Amino acid sequence: MSDNSGFDNNFRAIDPYVAGEQPDFPDMIKLNTNENPYPPAPGVIEASKEFEGKNLRLYPTTDATKLRRAIAKYHGIDPSMVYVGVGSDDVLSIIFQSCFNSGIPILFPEITYSFYVVWAQLYGIKYRMIPLRDDYRIEKKDYIGTENGGIVIANPNAPTSIAMPVSDVEDIIKANQNRVVVIDEAYVDFGGETALPLLEKYKNLIVVRTFSKSRSLAGLRIGYAMASPRIISAMETVKDCINSYPMNTTAIEIGAASLEDEEYFRDRIEKIIKSRDTLTKGLEDLGFKVLPSSANFVFATHPKIRASEIFAKLREKHIFVRHFNKPLIDDFLRITVGTDEQVAILLDELSKITY
Ligand SMILES: *Cc1c(COP(=O)(O)O)cnc(C)c1O
Repeated sequence: MSDNSGFDNNFRAIDPYVAGEQPDFPDMIKLNTNENPYPPAPGVIEASKEFEGKNLRLYPTTDATKLRRAIAKYHGIDPSMVYVGVGSDDVLSIIFQSCFNSGIPILFPEITYSFYVVWAQLYGIKYRMIPLRDDYRIEKKDYIGTENGGIVIANPNAPTSIAMPVSDVEDIIKANQNRVVVIDEAYVDFGGETALPLLEKYKNLIVVRTFSKSRSLAGLRIGYAMASPRIISAMETVKDCINSYPMNTTAIEIGAASLEDEEYFRDRIEKIIKSRDTLTKGLEDLGFKVLPSSANFVFATHPKIRASEIFAKLREKHIFVRHFNKPLIDDFLRITVGTDEQVAILLDELSKITY
């Protein structure tokens, strides 16, 4: 007879996802969690000032109606094709619970957003991790002709920053029409090609987006999925088994306002892309190898100095970048693209370390 009487037997043993640290130094340069260095659009600040606290007395709508409609309008699709959640982490977690129930292993890359494996484990979903190719790219052929219970691909991928052409994405969706294919487009605004137009053709595609990176709203926690009404209703059903009101009234109101200033949005993205070029060039001049980035971060390795050592030395200067102590990528640093000023300070410190 097994003995399950100990107190510790009550609790789930699982390795959680580990988020980047949120240090708080007045002088720090924080380039470790892919936040946007610019504030959200002026309209967002206005909306948060005008926000009527007295309405907090009431429950929000269960489907965050106002925000859901604003997102649908922004992308020119029907609201029945939109699901809104508390950051795309929440949206992805609902997708894992509602769409991967065949009992057959789902597929995702071995090097990708490390939350995918955590959800698979948490929800008891079988999975198989597919190695990247030697150049750190995702090869579409690895996801075609292999029996699977669903596929998850971040495009651009994280933490490699490399984008996959949308024609390859389409081939994967086309070859797996009885399975749900999730394309996590957290970074697509920074230069990736979106799979959104494919929604018209394929009922098995889910495109996931977030307000956290390109919209400078990581603190508000808004993410969304776009898919066929069949998939969205399956997600709603699971959501209603967990929490009827995941989206709070503040996020619904302010989030909707953030979709209104397209010019500001485009302008800041352009700035970040320019700074990314400066950062990439600067790193290469210091001897780093930098993977081709379509995101608001770069993934870089130095042939002579260990990433862990560079990470620690930058940290002493209150410059925070991300280092993953994991096989295959432990010699890389993931560096968020900051402002030009932050990029200049970082490169200056790196020049002393790599000298
Ligand atoms: C940042 C990120 C997310 C989660 O973002 P939220 O803040 O939860 O919206 C999801 N997927 C990838 C690949 C990310 O990098």
